[in-house]
Amino acid sequence: MSLVIYNTLSKKKEEFKSIEPNKVKLYLCGPTVYGLLHIGNFRGPIFFNFARNWLEKSGYEVNFTYNYTDIDDKIIKKANEEGVDSLVISERYIEEFKTDFKRLGLREHTNNPKVTDYVKEIVEYVETIVKNNHAYVVDNEVFFDISSLESYGELSGKKIDELSAGERVEVDNRKRNPGDFVLWKPAKEKEPSWDSPWGKGRPGWHIECSAMIKSILGKTIDIHGGGIDLIFPHHENEIAQGVGCNSCKYVNYWMHNNFINMKGEKMSKSLGNIIPGRVFMDEYHPEVLKFLILSTHYRSILNVSDEKIEQTFSGLLRVYRAIKSADFVLENFENNNEGKPNKKLSSLLADLDNKIEKSINDDFGTGELFAAIYDAVRTFNALNLERKKKDINSYPTAKLFKEWISGYGEMLALFNENPESFLLEVNELFLKQKNIDKNEVLKLLDGRKSAREAKDWEKADQFRDQLHNMGIDFSETGDSVEWFVKV
Ligand SMILES: [Zn+2]
Repeated sequence: MSLVIYNTLSKKKEEFKSIEPNKVKLYLCGPTVYGLLHIGNFRGPIFFNFARNWLEKSGYEVNFTYNYTDIDDKIIKKANEEGVDSLVISERYIEEFKTDFKRLGLREHTNNPKVTDYVKEIVEYVETIVKNNHAYVVDNEVFFDISSLESYGELSGKKIDELSAGERVEVDNRKRNPGDFVLWKPAKEKEPSWDSPWGKGRPGWHIECSAMIKSILGKTIDIHGGGIDLIFPHHENEIAQGVGCNSCKYVNYWMHNNFINMKGEKMSKSLGNIIPGRVFMDEYHPEVLKFLILSTHYRSILNVSDEKIEQTFSGLLRVYRAIKSADFVLENFENNNEGKPNKKLSSLLADLDNKIEKSINDDFGTGELFAAIYDAVRTFNALNLERKKKDINSYPTAKLFKEWISGYGEMLALFNENPESFLLEVNELFLKQKNIDKNEVLKLLDGRKSAREAKDWEKADQFRDQLHNMGIDFSETGDSVEWFVKV
C-alpha cells in the first residue's frame, strides 16, 4: 500500500514518490532562537518526528533536516539589550530548545544547520539568482524580482498584482514590484555582518532555508514542512529562490501543520495565552503534549481545552495501566515456551495493523491509530491476565501486547515511560491540581484497612464513601491497595 500526502501546492492528495528510490529528503523550518518555544512551535517537530518514523517503517531512509535561525532582527535586538554578541543569545536558546526537545523524547535530526554557518553558501546562492536575472541590486541591497517568475504565487494562491502597497508590504520605491523581497541587506550599526559582493551585510529571512537545502539535501527535495503561517510569504519566497537559482522544481510535496488554539482562541501575545512548551510540560506532562498533538490530524486546528486535557490524561492512564499489567505478567509469571498468545487478541492486533497502515498511509491519519490502541487495550484488559498465573498462555499474550504497543509507542514517541513511575507522577500531579491532601487519603485507607480487618463492614463502607467523595478510587487485592485520583 502506498503513501498518499496532501500537497499544499496542488491542494490535492497525491501518491508519494521519492526522488531517489527508498530515500526521503525532508526539511522542516526550525525556530528563530531568541526565546523559549511555545506549544504551537512544537507541533511541527512532534508531528514530523512521527512522519519520519512512519516513512522509515515503510522502508525509506530519511534525511531529516531542521534548521536554527540564529541571525534575525529579534535576536540582534535582544543581544543589544543585553550588551552581548548575538551568538550568545542564539546559542543560549538553542541549548534551551535542546533541553525541551530531549524532554519530549524526540529523535535527533539528521542535520541541524545554523544560518551563520552557511553565509558563504547563501552569498553564492544570491549571486546565482542575480546572474539568472531574477534579482536586482539597489544601494547594496539585493531584491528578488517576483515579476520575473511566472509561477510566483503558486503555493499561496496570491497574485502578483494583489501584492500591492497597503497589503502589509512596506512601500519601498526602490522595489520594482511591491511584493519583491530582500535576499541580502546591508548591515546597520551594531549588527553582525559578513562580506559579500554587495558590501558588508547579512541574509534576508527567506534565503537561508533555500541555501541550506541546496547545500545539505540538493536542488530538489521530497518533502518540505512547516506551520501553515509559513506558506506566505516564507515558503512562497523559498520556491521563488529555488527556481530562480536552480531552474528546477524546488520541492515535490509541501506539508503544513495547522495551529494550536487555547480554549477556542488563537494564541497571541495580546491575549496573553501563549504557553511555553516547558511550562505546559511542567503543569501537565510531556506525554500530554505529544498525545494532544498526535491524536489530532496535523492539518486540523488543535483546540486545547481543560476538557481535552482531561480526556488526554484519561487516555494515557488507560494505556499505561494496561502496560503496567503486561509488565506484571512478564515479570512474575513463568514463560514455559509452550503457551500461545490469546487468539482473539492476536487476530485483533493483526486486524488493527491493517487498519492503521491504511489510515496513516492516507495523509498521516493518526486518529485511527489512537482508536486502535484503545481497542487493543480494552481487549487486553478484558483478558484479566494478572489473575491467570497458572495459564501457560498468559505470558506469551502479555508479551505480544507489550511488543505491539511498544512498537507504535516508539513511532509516536509516546508510552515509553516506566508505567509505574508515570502513574505515580500523574497521581501526584492530580493531588496537587485538585488540592487533595495525600496524608488524609492515606489515613482514610488505613482506617478502612483496620475496619476490614476487624470485620466492621459498616465502618469500612464509611471510609470508602469518604474516599470516593474526595475523588479517590482504589482497588483491593488481598492485602494490597492501589489508589488513584479520579480523572
Ligand atoms: Zn524556512
